[in-house]
Amino acid sequence: MTHNFAIGADGWVAGAQPFPSPNVEARPADAVPTLIVVHNISLPPGEFGGGAIADLFLNRLDCDAHPYYAAHLRGVRVSAHFVIRRDGTLEQFVSCNERAWHAGASNFFGRERCNDFSIGVELEGSDAAAFEAAQYQTLSALAQSLAAHYPITALAGHSDIAPGRKTDPGPHFDWARLQRETSFPDQYFPYRYRPAAR
Ligand SMILES: [Zn+2]
Repeated sequence: MTHNFAIGADGWVAGAQPFPSPNVEARPADAVPTLIVVHNISLPPGEFGGGAIADLFLNRLDCDAHPYYAAHLRGVRVSAHFVIRRDGTLEQFVSCNERAWHAGASNFFGRERCNDFSIGVELEGSDAAAFEAAQYQTLSALAQSLAAHYPITALAGHSDIAPGRKTDPGPHFDWARLQRETSFPDQYFPYRYRPAAR
């Protein structure tokens, strides 16, 4: 499958299904996207399919619909720029030019507030399951488009920038495969190649 994820001047990606989220704000004046943060998410946890992720990012999740939602998601206001579904479909919730709310308290080699300078990509998945080939294909094509349009210098997992608090994208995410499919150089993966510098 060939993807064309051209990025518009408005930060919205052709070939992505747009679902504009209200959970967004301007990036700080001096901040441009230099980091791609890879996550996983599934709602309810471990179950794939359905519309609950989009509902969460659009503040319309029915928190009475599942005990997990009631316990953990009531009143939560979050978003990511992108969600990649199990079949590789790309959904976009926030313009890449704007700040989404995906990383939380975070630290990239000493620089905090990673939402300021990152683009968040959620893979529909969990820490307990392998990701689909179609998801790697979409992520790789998207990352290449983002790197061509923005001054991206690194990719990291949520667990890299929020260690001890976050575990995603989890042990099944294959960073070597992502590097192979993107042809990005080693320095784009600082947590893979110089973890001691963390
Ligand atoms: Zn995450």
